[in-house]
Amino acid sequence: MSEGGIRKLLSGIDVVPSRQLGQNFLIDDAFSKWIVDQLDPQPEDVIVEIGPGTGALSRHLIGRCRKLILIEKDQRLAEYLREEFADVTDQVEVRNEDAIEFDKRPLFVEGPIKLIGNLPYSTATPIMRNFLEQPTPVSRAVLMLQKEVAERIVAVPSTKAYGKLGLRMQSEWDVELVKTAGPELFYPRPKVDSSIIVLTPQLPGALVHFCKRKFDDVTNRGFAQRRKLLKKNLSLNSEAWNKLAAELEVSETARAEELTLEQWIEVSNELDDHPVLDLPEDSSGEIFDVVDENDEVVKQAPRAEVHEKDWRHRAVHIFVQNKAGDLYLQQRSDLKDRHAGQWDSSSAGHLDAGEDYEAAAKRELFEELMVSPKAAEGESGFCELARIEACEETGWEFVRLYSCQVVGKIRTHGREVACGAYFPLRLVREWIAKRPEDFAPGFIACFRRFDIEPSENE
Ligand code: SAM
Repeated sequence: MSEGGIRKLLSGIDVVPSRQLGQNFLIDDAFSKWIVDQLDPQPEDVIVEIGPGTGALSRHLIGRCRKLILIEKDQRLAEYLREEFADVTDQVEVRNEDAIEFDKRPLFVEGPIKLIGNLPYSTATPIMRNFLEQPTPVSRAVLMLQKEVAERIVAVPSTKAYGKLGLRMQSEWDVELVKTAGPELFYPRPKVDSSIIVLTPQLPGALVHFCKRKFDDVTNRGFAQRRKLLKKNLSLNSEAWNKLAAELEVSETARAEELTLEQWIEVSNELDDHPVLDLPEDSSGEIFDVVDENDEVVKQAPRAEVHEKDWRHRAVHIFVQNKAGDLYLQQRSDLKDRHAGQWDSSSAGHLDAGEDYEAAAKRELFEELMVSPKAAEGESGFCELARIEACEETGWEFVRLYSCQVVGKIRTHGREVACGAYFPLRLVREWIAKRPEDFAPGFIACFRRFDIEPSENE
């Protein structure tokens, strides 16, 4: 739409462009189409657009995907879009919501989604955090941002733009700045240039696994005062820092901006006390008890052989719920020998040879989520919920399912758990019904036993 067309449209719906809402509307239709093409829309795609405004990008998406969800904070614009797209309501859903607080969890039911938006300048960072932080269903994103923010996201070491934002984004996404546009492409004209970035998830194995919370903590501390030596910012004594600097192969006088992403991940792992880091990386040699059809121990054998020969063995699953009754689900690490990348119980694992079920459940909770179960107190205490016979669905495991609330904040490490979050039970039910392939089969067996009667507080 031309500048004149946009002006007329806005005055017709009583909108005076708001700076606070970052309302700079695209007026170059060919450029809008070019941005949409970067998303590579496919007929089966579900696409979410943030801040559709007057529909400059949305118009080029209609008819090119299965479903388009438009999230617009300005009520008058949301109403305009609803009217404008009234004849394609089977394809387009307009949501008059704030993208910073938008609950993205229901989107998992749709499968991987694509994200696009010419984001409002002032709130682009919290919007990106909400949509792009793991766990997220986003599989590709094309975003237009203030040029200076885009440059920080793709920045390389030893440059002024390099810092926490770029490291956080690059630790999870492959980021590319594909084009920069001047103010003349917008009405009203912004004071600065804008850039378009394309994001795709980091490929499995591209980076060493790490704990995202620890990584955020060390990069926050490292960049707290850019000009200070890293040793000071990380509050390390000379001996500890010199040892770490030697391992990283950096100078003892290094500053935060000199370290690459890979080196920051190494710092994060070196300073981490997550219990997963004490476990051997290769678990194929672990010894399990092999049991008979009555769950009686008959012999011991290595993990790899037990799985390969489908011998019966023992495992635990733990369902952690929060006060609202939501269930914590973990996404399995891509390093797992079975069901890598699938969604699973809050915590799950095999019994070591000679270990009992309850001890294994408490050990797994600590190793995977770094938490302890709440001491038994009424219904929220640690308790056994169900016993499931060994069968094909459980991978020939006798499973005991426990439920609990936990003490402390859950902290996962990528070596065992890719990411996790609490999900409402009705959403888990819907997600399993629509996309059972997203879940480890053992979890589905456990959820069915757990979810016999929908909870009252849903
Ligand atoms: N996509 C349109 C275009 O390219 O012409 C409009 C882009 S304009 C830069 C940003 C849009 O985001 C505006 O329509 C504004 O109302 C909307 N917006 C601002 N803050 C928002 C938020 N927190 N959540 C959702 N939309 C928001």
